[in-house]
Amino acid sequence: MVDRNKHDAPVLVIGLGRFGAATAGQLARLDREVLVIDTNEELVQKWAERVTHAVQADAKNIDALRQIGAQDFSVAVCAVGSSVEASVLIAANLVDLKIPQIWAKAISQSHGKILERIGANHVIYPEAEAGERVAHLVSGRMLDYIQFDDDFALVKMYPPKPIRGLNLTESGVRSKHNVTVVGVKSPGKPFTYATADTIVSNHDLIIVSGTTKDLEKFAALGT
Ligand code: ADP
Repeated sequence: MVDRNKHDAPVLVIGLGRFGAATAGQLARLDREVLVIDTNEELVQKWAERVTHAVQADAKNIDALRQIGAQDFSVAVCAVGSSVEASVLIAANLVDLKIPQIWAKAISQSHGKILERIGANHVIYPEAEAGERVAHLVSGRMLDYIQFDDDFALVKMYPPKPIRGLNLTESGVRSKHNVTVVGVKSPGKPFTYATADTIVSNHDLIIVSGTTKDLEKFAALGT
């Protein structure tokens, strides 16, 4: 396979359920070369026009994967979740084929643990992660929430009352509230980087980073 850096390497996506379809679709929109594999012929036909290659095959079968050339990929996503047995066998095949970057979807913590033990480099828990995100959003104070580690997140929100009309140094966003305003968006304008002199007003949107606890406290200051 052509030697490319990992940011534009072709991606192998196995399973065209909701998760795999979303992954493959977004990769195609990003103009990435994608090979999708699914046992379901109808799905494969449907996807043939959207992605570079779509092949009907059972990824539990390592010889079938070899024939397709799966071993030449440097990135693979195992998006089969509902059958833990299939997911585990597929992940093991991807490891045996020495694919360096293996992403795998897990439906439970124990499923994830097995995938990690087998050698999947990145285990994703889409439902658990979406549920945790929603828990932060339902409070209504945060408009978007992305958690990066167990304890660090980036939040989109309207500025809490105590920091409005002041610049970021005066309002003590960092010194008092222990969070960092990363970007600001005034109505009708794009997001810009925030500096110490940025004055945040009522209708602005802000992107704030910090620990989960500090962000929850900051958001709770109220609008
Ligand atoms: P989601 O919950 O994201 O919809 P599923 O786990 O239900 O995901 O999706 C499974 C998809 O993977 C289905 O389209 C199914 O046909 C496909 N699939 C299941 N087993 C295999 C396999 N052994 N090889 C290739 N594709 C498979």
